[in-house]
Amino acid sequence: MKIINFFNINYNKRKYFYRCKRCLVTSTRPRVTFKKNICSGCLNYEERKRINWKQRYSELQKLCDQYRSHSGKYDIVVPVGGGKDSSYVAWVLKNNLRMNPLCVFVEPPLMTKIGKKNLDNFEKKAFKIIRIKHTNLNRDLNSYYFKEFGLPQHSWLASIKIAPLKIAKKHNIKLVMFGEEGESMYGGINKNKNEMEFDKKNIAKYYLEMKPLNFSKKSKKYLYLDKKDIKDLKDIKMLYWSYFEEWDENFHLKIARKYCGLKNSHIREKNAINRHSHTDQKMFALHMYLAYLKYGFSRATSDTSIEIRHKRVTRERAINITKKFDHIFPSNYIKDYCKYFKIDQKSFFGILDNHKNKKLFH
Ligand SMILES: [Zn+2]
Repeated sequence: MKIINFFNINYNKRKYFYRCKRCLVTSTRPRVTFKKNICSGCLNYEERKRINWKQRYSELQKLCDQYRSHSGKYDIVVPVGGGKDSSYVAWVLKNNLRMNPLCVFVEPPLMTKIGKKNLDNFEKKAFKIIRIKHTNLNRDLNSYYFKEFGLPQHSWLASIKIAPLKIAKKHNIKLVMFGEEGESMYGGINKNKNEMEFDKKNIAKYYLEMKPLNFSKKSKKYLYLDKKDIKDLKDIKMLYWSYFEEWDENFHLKIARKYCGLKNSHIREKNAINRHSHTDQKMFALHMYLAYLKYGFSRATSDTSIEIRHKRVTRERAINITKKFDHIFPSNYIKDYCKYFKIDQKSFFGILDNHKNKKLFH
């Protein structure tokens, strides 16, 4: 495949593909908006700096006071992956806010050894985790969505939102605390940016590219919310930590390393710019490579854009990093991918080719 340098894109494509003038977010990012060439992620970052965080945190304290169990029962569900952010959230809820979290882990496709180890380390710090296994059904669904839409971990993305809500219902727990409300934070729909509670009707719209998993009755348990489910879940609050506290991944990393046993991966993935984000599974690298084929950006664009906003890297340096990493295919995992989807390499690359954006690639 011919590698396109998206920084020197020819002029007639610039109307379609351009980058935020502050960070590197691209105009092709789903649901992003721009004002005077600045992306909604950057604009919201500025806006978030003016939030009264003390007051937001006290809202959380009040909520905890209202729902805290005094009989030893679990009183809040926290979806966890064994990584820095969810470990941090669970840790603060337990140790600072004296809640009793029931953690829910949904196994991703192609989980790594370091991912398993980090989850075990987290569990050893006295957290109760319900582990949901990756099944053949998950794999069949992922294969289907990979072929049809270029979404290789779609059933997992659905489960990590839906399973915690359904488990909360089952255990009669009224609060579910997710991590960051990524839509407004990184450049997407703004509707939820100042709402404490997330509207469950928007799960498919925000997180599943409007492609909810509803073609199979069997997929219902932790994969699909219908209208009746949404009604049943109405007294459960779907919350995001990023509403209550300034979101700083580096700080989360520090705390998770110190108190939750989090370890870095020994290797940096081929298209990653660090050794600590999304180290729990091999499929994320493919998911982001497909974003490159579909939209012309991958993890280096996303990760450096966050770093630019935090002023931890200059835009110039971020451009160099992105030029170096964004287009890289995670070739070290090719055998894992083919085995997982039960296809040969020729069919695998055929699928990638089908999802290539014709406006960006020749
Ligand atoms: Zn931006």
